[in-house]
Amino acid sequence: MTAERTRVAIVGAGPAGLLLSHLLAEAGIDSIVLDSRSREDIEQTIRAGILEQGTVEILEKIEGSRVHTMGHRHDGVELRFAGEGHRIDFPGLTGRSVWLYPQHEVLIDLIAARLAAGQDLRFGAHVDTVEGVETDTPRITGTDAEGRPFEIVADFVVGADGSRSVVRPSVAGSMTAGYFREYPFAWFGILCEAPPSSDELIYSNSPNGFALISQRSDTVQRMYFQCDPEADPNAMSDAEIWETLQSRVPGTSLNEGPIFQRDVLRFRSFVVSELRKGRAALVGDAAHTVPPTGAKGMNLAVADVILLNEALRRLLLENDESGIDAYAEAARHRIWKAQHFSWWMTSMLHLSPESTEFDRYRQLGELHAVVESEAGRRYLAECYTGWPFRTTL
Ligand SMILES: Cc1cc2nc3c(=O)[nH]c(=O)nc-3n(C[C@H](O)[C@H](O)[C@H](O)COP(=O)(O)OP(=O)(O)OC[C@H]3O[C@@H](n4cnc5c(N)ncnc54)[C@H](O)[C@@H]3O)c2cc1C
Repeated sequence: MTAERTRVAIVGAGPAGLLLSHLLAEAGIDSIVLDSRSREDIEQTIRAGILEQGTVEILEKIEGSRVHTMGHRHDGVELRFAGEGHRIDFPGLTGRSVWLYPQHEVLIDLIAARLAAGQDLRFGAHVDTVEGVETDTPRITGTDAEGRPFEIVADFVVGADGSRSVVRPSVAGSMTAGYFREYPFAWFGILCEAPPSSDELIYSNSPNGFALISQRSDTVQRMYFQCDPEADPNAMSDAEIWETLQSRVPGTSLNEGPIFQRDVLRFRSFVVSELRKGRAALVGDAAHTVPPTGAKGMNLAVADVILLNEALRRLLLENDESGIDAYAEAARHRIWKAQHFSWWMTSMLHLSPESTEFDRYRQLGELHAVVESEAGRRYLAECYTGWPFRTTL
């Protein structure tokens, strides 16, 4: 087997890997992007839905992006508790908004744009090993879609390969090296065929537990309610799911429709101990996981990529290591702010099985303090719509 050569080997064709290949190509830097999944699987997996304004400003520049034609701008969310709804007005508080544009649509756009630009993008290519990250010629090996082994030698290897990253041990020393928190609850998520039940997302903290009334499109809705992490997604009937959801959003009559997907989403926070070692770095979920309450996962992946792109341009075009040396610290700055926001929203809206009456009343006090204070509402709006991306290192 003869090893192939490229400048940047990117493991993972999720939002992080595809966007990085796009930005590198703009600077004339070749890359190979490998993903173990098929194109169809990637384009059909339903995940994130909320894009920060900064993410939209990146995506809208990509040829063929449908973010403005298919996506919907959302100028606020509602926090509902103690029988009342409280709108957080994003533009009024921050001058910024978010967009509802599902992750799989982002991926459909990015894959089409990368293939049209001639990107070497390989589906069904599973990476097994990463070696030599402390040399100038790191290499990856794996098996392609036809079951043939491959070996690629690169100037740099990027782990954009999600939470079960195969690149992470080469950078951080092990799969688990880092800072981890598991929460004693999860979200039971459904996708259903129904029109939206509300114009904007509702985060509802009710006496019966938390629920999020989210959206996907004009005809498909995404809704979640807090559940036990061990819950079996198939154990509840559709009628029980609707009854649970309705009981947690008092004051709104939800539009019901056939449920065609259900899953249990565990809540975890994780930040890897090292984001870069020698000629390898991690971006996106390979480097961190956030609970979904703050809608930060995909947006954080984009923020990492913008920094790494700048670092790699300097390294590979100017032979200047200062950017890559600064990458980890610069990325961590936003990662921990997003970790805090995701944890804060989670703790403010959910009660754990061990919570007492004190915890419940304290939580309501916190929610009142946030919505009754302009500073509180603005803080939430700033975090939710996203801090401006840092582009220099
Ligand atoms: C069910 C679910 C719901 C979510 N909901 C939200 C939400 O509402 N809001 C939000 O902001 N975030 C949400 N997230 C998180 C968000 O989807 C992620 O943060 C985002 O996908 C991160 O992008 P990424 O490119 O870093 O990783 P991924 O999207 O995970 O992409 C990694 C890619 O690497 C590939 N890969 C992995 N290992 C290998 C290997 N060995 N060889 C080759 N390829 C490999 C995978 O097939 C995958 O395509 C959700 C996640 C899940 C799982």
